[in-house]
Amino acid sequence: MTRIFDDDLETGFGTRAIHAGQRPEPLAGAIMTPVYLTSTYVQDALGRHKGYEYARSKNPTREALERNVAALEGGRHGFAFASGTACVDSIMKLFQSGDHIICGENVYGGTFRLFDRLLRHLGLSFSYVDTRDPEQIARACTPKTRAVLVETPTNPLMWITDLSEAAKVAHEAGALLIVDNTFATPYFQRPFQHGADIVFHSTTKYLNGHSDMIGGMAVLRDDALAERLAFIQNAAGAVPGPFDCWLALRGTKTLHLRMPRHDENGRRVAAWLAERVGPERVIYPGLESHPQHALAKRQMTGYGGMISVDLGTRERAARVLERTRIFSLAESLGGVESLISHPATMTHASVPPERRAQLGITDGLIRLSCGVEDIGDLLADLEHAFK
Ligand SMILES: *Cc1c(COP(=O)(O)O)cnc(C)c1O
Repeated sequence: MTRIFDDDLETGFGTRAIHAGQRPEPLAGAIMTPVYLTSTYVQDALGRHKGYEYARSKNPTREALERNVAALEGGRHGFAFASGTACVDSIMKLFQSGDHIICGENVYGGTFRLFDRLLRHLGLSFSYVDTRDPEQIARACTPKTRAVLVETPTNPLMWITDLSEAAKVAHEAGALLIVDNTFATPYFQRPFQHGADIVFHSTTKYLNGHSDMIGGMAVLRDDALAERLAFIQNAAGAVPGPFDCWLALRGTKTLHLRMPRHDENGRRVAAWLAERVGPERVIYPGLESHPQHALAKRQMTGYGGMISVDLGTRERAARVLERTRIFSLAESLGGVESLISHPATMTHASVPPERRAQLGITDGLIRLSCGVEDIGDLLADLEHAFK
């Protein structure tokens, strides 16, 4: 089980981003954690080894990443997985057939698909509610409820859940609060400060930030719960390879430099869009017109680079999506390069059409992930596409 180095919690965020979880490599003193490309470790004698036996259980590159992200979130234990989805899947193995989970109704499409198409058939039951309203979470609680899982802000509708309220309701029901912090990152939002029990990420997105790997990460504070997840990580084995861990660790070193720029570009693009198509069509928590702007401002220290815009029809959406040159048409988000996508046919294609309509993921909705390019070029690109 990977526990943080205790002194890693004493420094500022940027220092932790660069140093937490890493110590100079003992053989040569390499300042960068090596990629430990090995499946096994030689033992000194029967029952005597250096703490490493087999690389599914432990890998030093993976441990450095686990400690690093755990320190950024303000947790104690980190667990890296092969993808964000594998991470949720392993977290769900904390529960048993018959247990009930309350899940935000606008979570990542792949999370919903995992629950609805796979885990439901293994005996877990799920209720999907609008977690913007803590009353709805409370009403969905049953004596079998073991967890409340929320994503805030959500993808792609940027709904905000009040984490303190959600934690209160979950804990009163004897359930855990599990938070997908992929969109905000620990740079802008610390769910543990609001009472979360498990914080997780698709590290594929902002934490890695360079669109060159797939990964997931869970962070916990409670030792006993962490011990159970450590067992699952090893027993189910959905672990990432060391090179992907190394890439993610390289990514987190600049998280505190990238996020302010994503945020600044996000604000400028959102303001441009609001002026161009009307603020009622632009969904960005940093806009005063966002219905939950006050909560976002209270709970987050920035809004990031994710923006959705409803252009009314699929044709209008297609025209913009096909005419941008810097914003590339692609799924995913959170990289240094700007992307544009069509949730209804791309990231949320696995959500049934009736459900998409209910939620407001219309055919005219496009989603932008503002990268860290020069803002003048991004606005000129949109100017051209919207002409
Ligand atoms: C991408 C994403 C996931 C899934 O992560 P993968 O790494 O693609 O498996 C989960 N939650 C959110 C919010 C995401 O954006």
